[in-house]
Amino acid sequence: MRFLLIVIFIAALILNSCQETTVTKEEVAAKLDTLEHKFEWLDYRISQEQWDLYTRGFSDSLEFYTGLYNYTITDKELLRNLNLGKKYFNDEDNLRRYDLIYSSVLTGLIESENNISALRDSLNKFDIIYRPNYNGEKTTQSSLYDLYRSSDNRLVREQSYRAWTQIGNELADGLAQLFRLRNQQARTLGYNNYFALVFSQMEVDQPTYLKLLDRLDSLSRKPYQSILQGIRTQLRYDDVEIWDITYAYKDINRKIDSYFPVDFQLDMVKSSLEKLGYDLDQLPIYFDLEAREGKSQFAYAFPIKPPYDVRVLANLTNGLYSTRVLMHEMGHALHATQISQERAVYTNSIASAWGEGMAQLIAAQCDEKDWLQNEANVPADVADEYNKAKKEQDLVYLRTTLCRLMFEYEAYQNPNQDLNKLYWDLFEKYLFLPRHDDLKPWASLIYYITHPVYMQNYLFADIITAQSLNSIKRLYGYYSGNNLAGSFLTHNYFRFGSRYSWREMLKRGTDEDFNPDYLIEQLGI
Ligand SMILES: [Zn+2]
Repeated sequence: MRFLLIVIFIAALILNSCQETTVTKEEVAAKLDTLEHKFEWLDYRISQEQWDLYTRGFSDSLEFYTGLYNYTITDKELLRNLNLGKKYFNDEDNLRRYDLIYSSVLTGLIESENNISALRDSLNKFDIIYRPNYNGEKTTQSSLYDLYRSSDNRLVREQSYRAWTQIGNELADGLAQLFRLRNQQARTLGYNNYFALVFSQMEVDQPTYLKLLDRLDSLSRKPYQSILQGIRTQLRYDDVEIWDITYAYKDINRKIDSYFPVDFQLDMVKSSLEKLGYDLDQLPIYFDLEAREGKSQFAYAFPIKPPYDVRVLANLTNGLYSTRVLMHEMGHALHATQISQERAVYTNSIASAWGEGMAQLIAAQCDEKDWLQNEANVPADVADEYNKAKKEQDLVYLRTTLCRLMFEYEAYQNPNQDLNKLYWDLFEKYLFLPRHDDLKPWASLIYYITHPVYMQNYLFADIITAQSLNSIKRLYGYYSGNNLAGSFLTHNYFRFGSRYSWREMLKRGTDEDFNPDYLIEQLGI
């Protein structure tokens, strides 16, 4: 009798634990529905609060809503149930929706962890309201950036570069701690490190990515070295420094910038979009474009409630760079207003590489000779001279990007190493310039703090852009000013939101799989 009771007890236990590890199709479907609705509402409230924070320097309820968000996804059973439930879905719509929601929960579980979110948010707040000191006076990051790239006085360039990177010394310890915390949390979810977790949700895998970086490095090394040699000869320095590089292009940059006074930039953007077939006055896009105290010094598009309410924050200054940044953010905003999907998750969960690609496609107009001539009245010879210089500066940018990407990759492989040494080692490897171990420029890049393992999306975006422009020009002859090109973008890309994977949309639009060769060809390497 006693034996029987034990058997029954054990059987009940097994049954019970079976129930715990089983989840029905209805339960998972209901979970997905609930999450989709909660995310829609929370994304909306959080974006509104972030808009306040970034435009005013403070927000009333950001902590409250991010707290709710964290509460929603840190339900311990959630990830397990989602994992168990995938097998129930075999129709394409539900599988897609499942993947997007699963991915948000997985990455959200890292960023919502208490220590990580507290540290990240405090570093970000510090960065938003930070104003650097230069010669004993408060200034802005963008005026230092201008100064270090264009002052004729080499000492001023050096000092402004140092002041520009000063914030890195304030943020370095916190950032190093963030690398460690994100890795710890990723390990609790079964990943080797945080970088591997993010790439598990990316449409390009880690080995392919590392091979791509390697290929870009070997193809661009020699052309970059001869650019460097040209700068040495031109400036008559034996040792060119990081603060001399952009300065070498100051004449043509000044020339081109004179065609982009701050007050005309929004009109140029409006006119260029109109020719692509988009009437900005009819679109629900709102702007905050003037610099002021307490406001973030960067530029962002905030999809508050796409496609009905989208906002753009920027700090316009004279020059082409500021115009291009505005075009890029307008590209994000335009994309968000053109999404035509019933499911909120297809409107709100845009893959970062794809979102950046859509923004870069709009910004790419600024590099076209036609556009420079027609929209900004740049004379043909100045446009040619500028494009020649731009090609060289693009290679400098590429190698700077390789340095930053490899830094982040290596930092997550081992966050306990000397990160400053790692950065300057990579800096020497990719840029062939003197190191300055007393500075910590890597920690002044806010992306590592607020958008971890994100910067590679800009590289993917440039590939998406080069590949798409190749198709557009093959089909319609030219890009900027061509409303057929605008139709191409809406029809093949914008309207789908994240209904399909971005590689699939790219393939549908261009008839070819994701192909870095187009970027390599554009770079001329
Ligand atoms: Zn962007």
